[in-house]
Amino acid sequence: MNPLSIYIHIPFCIHKCGYCDFNSYALDNLLDQGHAGENWAESYSEAVIRELKGRTRSLGLAERPVQTLFFGGGTPSLFPAAETARILAFIQENFDIDPDAEISLEANPGASDTARLSALREAGVNRLSIGVQSFDDDCLRRLERIHTGDDAREAFRSARRAGFSNISIDLMFGTPFQTLNQATADIEAGIELGPEHLSAYELTIEPGTNFGALHSRGELHGLPDEDTALAMWETRDRLLSAAGFERYEISNFARPAFRCRHNLNYWNRGEYLGAGAGAHSLISGRRFWNLARPDHYAEKADDPTAGEEDVSGAEKALGESLMLGLRLREGVSLGDIARECGGEPEEIFGGIFSALADQGLIERENKTVRLSRRGTLLANQVLAKFL
Ligand code: SF4
Repeated sequence: MNPLSIYIHIPFCIHKCGYCDFNSYALDNLLDQGHAGENWAESYSEAVIRELKGRTRSLGLAERPVQTLFFGGGTPSLFPAAETARILAFIQENFDIDPDAEISLEANPGASDTARLSALREAGVNRLSIGVQSFDDDCLRRLERIHTGDDAREAFRSARRAGFSNISIDLMFGTPFQTLNQATADIEAGIELGPEHLSAYELTIEPGTNFGALHSRGELHGLPDEDTALAMWETRDRLLSAAGFERYEISNFARPAFRCRHNLNYWNRGEYLGAGAGAHSLISGRRFWNLARPDHYAEKADDPTAGEEDVSGAEKALGESLMLGLRLREGVSLGDIARECGGEPEEIFGGIFSALADQGLIERENKTVRLSRRGTLLANQVLAKFL
């Protein structure tokens, strides 16, 4: 049986950051507006368990080996550890979890004290992904983060004290008024902490966010020009490579043996079940997603599906495999995806491959296609060609 990954979405945050387009909600707003009650955490974990029961039955998932499990958000570290433990215990009892499974949880430095992290470690979480974004307090304020650079350092030390030996940190560059020196200092500070994995993303301005609204009115000031952004990319890659990290995806770097197995499953277009408000799943050639608002989701938790798409056709499946797999540094084997998706990538996408190769955006070697250095910098535009 094909392995399965499980994703659990915890949509609650203390504050909605200005750039964030995730399905996340400031908890106080939900409480003030009556969209969450006093027992919000307990009700939410009950809803997730109800959904998992319903999906296991309707999709026959109980026998599928589960190799990775990921609690993402939102701010999973804000969710009471006892409720996370309850969801995790249900999954461990009702799915065939590999004894060596990677069990990750996203943590915000503003909600990551040692007691909380120790309880999560004890419940079985074995990998922590800490959303640092920057160590510079001015940058953090502009991003509307709830923590300081020192809080981020302390969260990392707390995670080590709690027994985590697999920690990733997330950084962001290209943020308003950030200088090249500040971006460089962030990468250096990240390396100094000694994580096993590090993600460093360039800020993208998404519609529907505060930053998106400011940008469309011409009021989002201080974004770096193209040359500065390029220098930030190059500095990031140079410093991390010198420190022994391998870039295995556009924005992800790992020490040997510490690549994120959960995300690799997404990029390899493996199957996954997503439970929780707004979570997406890909199972048996069907992509489906849940109701987004936590109270709407909880009301219909037995079957919270909000929409679905048939992605089993060869053209769709190959396009998705290319769009996801080209994010990986090693690229995509056309032979492998032809076998998995049942079509011939050259016949369907041959014209696009040639055009991208002529522009120097992809490289081809036998039956493998990968992004060139320039293609990596322009990845969003290149990958959109396969949609
Ligand atoms: S903490 Fe994360 S999920 Fe929550 S609003 Fe900020 S970026 Fe979004």
